[in-house]
Amino acid sequence: MTNIHRTDQSTKDLIGIGFGPANLALATAIDELTSASEQVTGTDTLFFEKQPMFGWHRGMLIDGATLQVSFLKDLVTLRNPTSQYSFTSYLHRKNRLVDFINSKTFYPLRTEFHEYLEWVAGNFASSVAYGHQVLAVRPVRVGEAVQYLDVEARGADGTLTTHRTRNVVLGTGLTPHLPDGVVSSRRIWHSGELLERTRSLSPGDAKAFAVVGAGQSAAEVAEYLHQSFPRAEIHAVLTRYGYSVADDSPFANRIFDPSAVDDFFSAPEDVKQRLLAYHSNTNYAVVDLDLSQSLYRTAYREKVSGGRRLHLHNVSRVSDVEETAGHVNLTVGSLPDSTAQRLQVDCLVYATGYRPADPLPLLAELEPEIKKDDNGRPALTRDYRVVTTDGVRCGIYIHGAAAEHSHGLSAGLLSNVAVRAGEVAQSIAARTTL
Ligand SMILES: Cc1cc2nc3c(=O)[nH]c(=O)nc-3n(C[C@H](O)[C@H](O)[C@H](O)COP(=O)(O)OP(=O)(O)OC[C@H]3O[C@@H](n4cnc5c(N)ncnc54)[C@H](O)[C@@H]3O)c2cc1C
Repeated sequence: MTNIHRTDQSTKDLIGIGFGPANLALATAIDELTSASEQVTGTDTLFFEKQPMFGWHRGMLIDGATLQVSFLKDLVTLRNPTSQYSFTSYLHRKNRLVDFINSKTFYPLRTEFHEYLEWVAGNFASSVAYGHQVLAVRPVRVGEAVQYLDVEARGADGTLTTHRTRNVVLGTGLTPHLPDGVVSSRRIWHSGELLERTRSLSPGDAKAFAVVGAGQSAAEVAEYLHQSFPRAEIHAVLTRYGYSVADDSPFANRIFDPSAVDDFFSAPEDVKQRLLAYHSNTNYAVVDLDLSQSLYRTAYREKVSGGRRLHLHNVSRVSDVEETAGHVNLTVGSLPDSTAQRLQVDCLVYATGYRPADPLPLLAELEPEIKKDDNGRPALTRDYRVVTTDGVRCGIYIHGAAAEHSHGLSAGLLSNVAVRAGEVAQSIAARTTL
């Protein structure tokens, strides 16, 4: 039987679950709040991150891929433009500020932004338990009231520990989504694993890949495989009529403004649904214009030269998938005319997106205390706190994609992460002595 230790007998002010950009931004906000305020003193904070080290979608750190928001939407700038944790501060420390300016772009390389995030995370290393997956958050009752929360985590060696806290912030982000019935295997995998899965493949040996999906990841994967495996045929399978372009025009971008969160939060449910539908083409199942054009040019060039390797199967669907020792056999069926083509590929990649990690399994023992909306999701206040029964005295916050239904499209993105983290930090400080 595994032992459960209450490792440290202190009660934390805050435990953060997950240490991606959301909770990393929260760490900076708390740090700056405690240094700036005489009332808010000292903080006992601990973050649990299940990855062995800091990592932001490592499997998709494709060489040359760029951030999709301005670098000014880093972890801090919109909240505190003078912060020591800004992207410009990082560039300055790395002696690259002037070079970055000369590159005349708002959109740094994703690899560079990852390095920036790692650099910020390095400042908080003593407050993060890497390689620790949180399994449950449990109520601790004093009399009738839930006064504290016990957070149970499993370390990389299997040891279970519990840690007591006054506040918990779930920053558990996104979970890769595979279509119903698809099971990941040696040759069938999600796009989020691209770099790990292709590392062992020899560029000259791979003969064919199929990529399912129509969004940014699908287009990036198709282009990456096409460039990295010069002898391989790439079959991009889309239910759409080709890739649709992301709307990142100035007016549309305002849906990500900090003030748009106020509008969205206070809107009636039908208006919320309409806003999500109108503006989903800023983020979901869409591709950056230059990438879409680049793929089109490649396909056209190959049509002219005759050496076709990039095949776009529009308005099509994959079925009859069968994995053998050396290949994956599959059918690509055209939806308009029901014609079908049988393909044999080395790997079948599902670039079928992500879903917000569901917060309820972690909070299962608190469920009777949690108020839900009409769709059974935790109801949240404007400051991202879960609405609970009056008997709950501690704070439970949801910071990230799982708040999209109440706070709008920016909830799971970087766009508003700095301001959002500041709001969560202020809310916790107002309810607790940090
Ligand atoms: C390839 C890719 C590129 C993207 N590029 C952009 C972009 O350019 N601009 C933009 O705005 N958005 C982008 N996004 C959206 C993305 O959601 C945000 O960039 C960002 O990752 C959100 O941060 P987060 O902390 O909320 O979630 P995540 O980055 O998903 O971090 C959550 C963390 O929680 C950890 N975790 C989860 N459950 C547990 C648990 N039980 N115990 C311990 N740890 C746990 C995970 O390991 C993870 O590290 C991109 C997404 C992808 C997949």
